[in-house]
Amino acid sequence: MSSKRSEKRKTVHQGDEEGVSVARWLNTDKRKVVLEILEQIKRAVDAQGRENRQALDQLGELLDSYGYHTVPVAGDRGIEFFHAFETGSAVEGLVLDELLTLAELGLAYRLRVCDGCRRWFFAFRVDQHVHGEKCRKLYRKSEEYKAVHRDYMRAQYIPKKPKRKEN
Ligand SMILES: [Zn+2]
Repeated sequence: MSSKRSEKRKTVHQGDEEGVSVARWLNTDKRKVVLEILEQIKRAVDAQGRENRQALDQLGELLDSYGYHTVPVAGDRGIEFFHAFETGSAVEGLVLDELLTLAELGLAYRLRVCDGCRRWFFAFRVDQHVHGEKCRKLYRKSEEYKAVHRDYMRAQYIPKKPKRKEN
């Protein structure tokens, strides 16, 4: 069973490549446009009914404002449609194309901020919230610190006798 697991890990799933690339971009200071579009995608995915319609319209407007259009290119099946943008650099356009591909695959939500190091990463599994063991330890440390800090603050500020008992 454990060997099966490690085999699974090595497999590159659809979207993995794009996810890693977009996450890398989100860790640079050029992230603004990509982050804005990612946040709007997440909003649209999370929203239901009328709010979903509104969020999708807003996403459309946002994409329009960056000069979004499609360009047909030669692909494996004869033709592919490339998501192109008029604003920004060529690299940013490629990253945006990858982000929209992830959204189409339903994987945009896997772009997350690591609980440990607070850097962006692409979660290969649904339940992954840190890069790896090193960041898990970082996260535990910060949680332990928070817990200790919380207890300390409670001890300082919570009155010894609750007022409710006086009534
Ligand atoms: Zn991390």
